[in-house]
Amino acid sequence: MERRILLTFDLEEFDLPLEFGCPISDEDQMNVTNNGLQRLTRLLSKYNIPATFFTTAFYADKNRELIKSLSANHEIASHSKYHSEFNETDPFDSKIEIERIIGKHIYGFRMPKFRKIDISIIKEAGYSYDSSINPTFIPGRYNNLFTQRKIHLDTWSNLIEIPVSVSSLIRFPLFWLSFKNIPLPIYYHMCKTAIQKDSYLHLYFHPWEFDDLESFNLPWYIKNPSGKSFSGRFEKLILKLRKTGAFSTISGYLDSLGSV
Ligand SMILES: [Zn+2]
Repeated sequence: MERRILLTFDLEEFDLPLEFGCPISDEDQMNVTNNGLQRLTRLLSKYNIPATFFTTAFYADKNRELIKSLSANHEIASHSKYHSEFNETDPFDSKIEIERIIGKHIYGFRMPKFRKIDISIIKEAGYSYDSSINPTFIPGRYNNLFTQRKIHLDTWSNLIEIPVSVSSLIRFPLFWLSFKNIPLPIYYHMCKTAIQKDSYLHLYFHPWEFDDLESFNLPWYIKNPSGKSFSGRFEKLILKLRKTGAFSTISGYLDSLGSV
């Protein structure tokens, strides 16, 4: 089967500055995300790339028409209700709320900030797959070095778990921060090796990275590059990746495996 590239984006209110003690209004959180999303979707349409957007129900509710039109070409999945708060009923409630907005079924869930969650809550909320695991070690956040690295069926809950991609030997994360901070040829080389080994590549980024973050009091490794220069770097990555396989949504990929 053809190798698949799964580009996924966490479509959330831009609450990251709050983590660094930098105040930002709800309105500005939405504006940054929306500006970035515009730049990102232009790029995805230019190359006709379907992607998966994990959106918070809060964001979806404030941007109903936008989410609905996004769902015409992309998969919409849940990123819970809010990005900064969590309640055990949120996976269920967010699914219902987002489905009502887009008028389509939602299959996937990703926990904000990849926080640990009891997988049975996701299963009971009616999802087919979970994508809340980055199978690596991120100091201060999580240590998932001993969880399964690749897509699998969680036999206990009968839910498909699709972790984001890491390199196979040392589990180097191929997430957004690596893409920004290591030279592109090295990052691309690791992606290529991962897709050759695993036959799929699962990456994640955020639409707000496509907006200019220079004015925010954030660490350099988060805001450099952002906006136009981030978008340029991302376009180079797309051009290289498309030589390695076909872009697909997660549900489209699972469908091709006969899993959804
Ligand atoms: Zn997120």
